[in-house]
Formats: sequence, structure tokens, C-alpha cells
Amino acid sequence: MSSTSKKAAIEIRGVSRLYGAGNAQVTALGGVFLTIQENEFFTLLGPSGCGKTTLLRLIAGFDFPTSGEILLHGEDIAPLPPFKRPVNTVFQSYALFPHMTVAENIAFGLKMLGRPADELRTRVAEMLELVHMTPMRDRQVSQISGGQQQRVALARALAPKPKVLLLDEPLSALDYKLRKEMQIELKRVQAETGITFIFVTHDQEEALTMSDRIAVMSAGSVRQVGSPWEIYDHPAERFVANFIGETNFLEVEVVSIEGTSARVRLRSGKEIPATFPEQTNPNGKVTIVIRPEHAALMEPSADATLSGVVESIVYLGTDTAINVRLDGGSLFTVRQQNSRSGPCGYSEGQTVGIKLSDDVAQILKD
Ligand code: ATP
Repeated sequence: MSSTSKKAAIEIRGVSRLYGAGNAQVTALGGVFLTIQENEFFTLLGPSGCGKTTLLRLIAGFDFPTSGEILLHGEDIAPLPPFKRPVNTVFQSYALFPHMTVAENIAFGLKMLGRPADELRTRVAEMLELVHMTPMRDRQVSQISGGQQQRVALARALAPKPKVLLLDEPLSALDYKLRKEMQIELKRVQAETGITFIFVTHDQEEALTMSDRIAVMSAGSVRQVGSPWEIYDHPAERFVANFIGETNFLEVEVVSIEGTSARVRLRSGKEIPATFPEQTNPNGKVTIVIRPEHAALMEPSADATLSGVVESIVYLGTDTAINVRLDGGSLFTVRQQNSRSGPCGYSEGQTVGIKLSDDVAQILKD
């Protein structure tokens, strides 16, 4: 998605939120800058306590920044109370009314806004269709499943046509299979409605599969913003590389730089190419990241990029993780796809070589 052709839906400009005072002061957010484009599926990803919910609450108007501004389509929304913001929220708990039917729940927000009865009927019917719940329109919410309740919560939040929908870990109460199904549903609904979704999760896989762009957060700040591919394959720093999937870190020395690529020397003396984050100028000793699926085991030989001894083997269904203690002392994981013909073919204690796919190393910022 090209950011130049898009218009900003939400701009977060230097937003901080401090709670408490003195020694007990907590910086929930410390000077966050973010631009979320119209029609984007944008995800805030980070560990518990990093400030994701705080940022959603500030956008919704349930709370106020200690400093900084939030713009919606270029307008500062600070003076607007929550119900006047063209923003709606889907909560983890759904917050549905159990004594009402599915249709009554979806109509609720529109009724509060005093919309006429015919508009209400049409819009509820549209929303029921959108989330595939028309046959259940007259069921009590207490008589439908968790996944169906999630669909109703989504329909209710979308009924007043918000410009931006905030989703705070909406799938975390669902079991694995239902969660996967609802991920596809949420993507479909976002694409069909064209509404900007700001989705909060601490689940890396969920963020990678669903998002146009991801902001990775840690301790009240945004560490990196990018497409799933950029975040996974070109993490700029150790926290991001570590948080998004399994990875190997190696200490290396920069030999030369050519354009956007560097050549680095491993402890084994071999040289490989490595990309590096924009606006950095790597030199001397640096750390590189290599994902386990970008390496393969081979017989020990002079052609191997790395070599070591297999320390442990973990069968994972679709593939096997083989942990190799490198000659230099660090542990390196190789992921190998499984086949039905038998186990991976290596054993603990075996001496192996490791070869890397082309151009798979990423240099981290200091
Ligand atoms: P989780 O994934 O667990 O929901 P989160 O990333 O959404 O976490 P926040 O709920 O935004 O994190 O909290 C960020 C930090 O601010 C945490 O350290 C939290 O304890 C603190 N915090 C949040 N709300 C308050 C409050 N009302 N008073 C004091 N501290 C708060």
C-alpha cells in the first residue's frame, strides 16, 4: 500500500499519557507519532503493558493525552466527547446486552443517535447481511455462540458508519479455530466497508496475517512501523526481531557497503551480504538477524557458511526446529519443512554444516 497516494485518517502527534505522580508515575505512552491512512487495516502490536489500549482509549475519547495532539482527517479531536467522534470500538468482552435480540443489539447505537425507524431497519438488515447473521436476527444474544456474539459486536459498532473502528483484542476470547475464521471475517468486512480499522493484539501471527501495516510497540513507544513483510524480514532492532517470530542473532563485522547492501564477515571468516535499516550507516561490529527458515543443514564441508553440533531437535508438525551449537559458541536454529517420508534425518550430537539462502541477513540498529 503506497502511503503517498493515501490520505491520513488518524494522526498521532507527540502523544504522551502519564498516570500518577512522583515515584509512582507511569509513562503509559511517551511521545508517540503515528499516521494511520484511510481504509487501512492498521495493527498496534506489543507485549502486555506497552500502551496499546491507552492509545485506543485516547483516540476513542475515553481518556485524554497528557500532551500531544490527535487529528482525525486533519481536525484536532480534543474538543469532541466520545459520542461525537466518528469512531467506534469493539471490545474484547463484546459488551453486548444479553436480554436483547441480535437485531436489537445492532440497532442500539443508531437508536441512541435518534435515527428514523426506516433507516434503522435498513441499516440493521445491511449489517446482519455483512456479518452473515440474518438467520439469527431474533435470537437472544445469550443463546448464540462466542463467535456469533463477536459478529454481532462488530455489526453493532459498524452500524452508525464510523470513519474509524477501534478493535481492542477482539478475538482473544475465541478458541484457535474460531479465531482463525474470525480473522478472515474481519479482513473481509474491513475490505467491504472500506472503514479504517485500528486493531490491537499481542499476537504476532495475528498481526502478520491481518494487517496492511503494523506498529510494534514497547514500553510506551513505537519501535517500528511497516508492512508485515518489512517488520518480519527487515526488523530494525533487536526488540522487533525478537518479538516477531523466532530468530537467530549473530555478531559480525561490516566489511564494505554498496548502496543499500553491506557485506559482513561472520566469525567463521565467511562473508555474506546483509541489508540494513534506512538512515543508518553500519560499520565495525554489528548484529545481524537470520530467520530459521532461511537456513538449511548440510554435510560439514568448506562450502558451509556456518558449522556446529546438533544440540536438540523439536518436531513441530509442518516443520522441525533443529538447534545447532555453532563452533563460535552461540545457538543457531534451522527450520526444515517436514515430509511424510519420515523424521528430519539428523540426530543430536551430529556435526553439521549450515548454508543460508541468498540475501537473508538483516543488520540491526545499534
Ligand atoms: P494489555 O495488552 O495488557 O492490555 P496494553 O499494551 O494495552 O496492555 P495499557 O493498558 O495501555 O497496555 O497500559 C500501559 C501502561 O499504563 C501499563 O503499565 C499500565 O499499568 C499503565 N496504566 C494504564 N492505565 C492506567 C491507569 N488508569 N492508571 C495507572 N496506570 C495505568
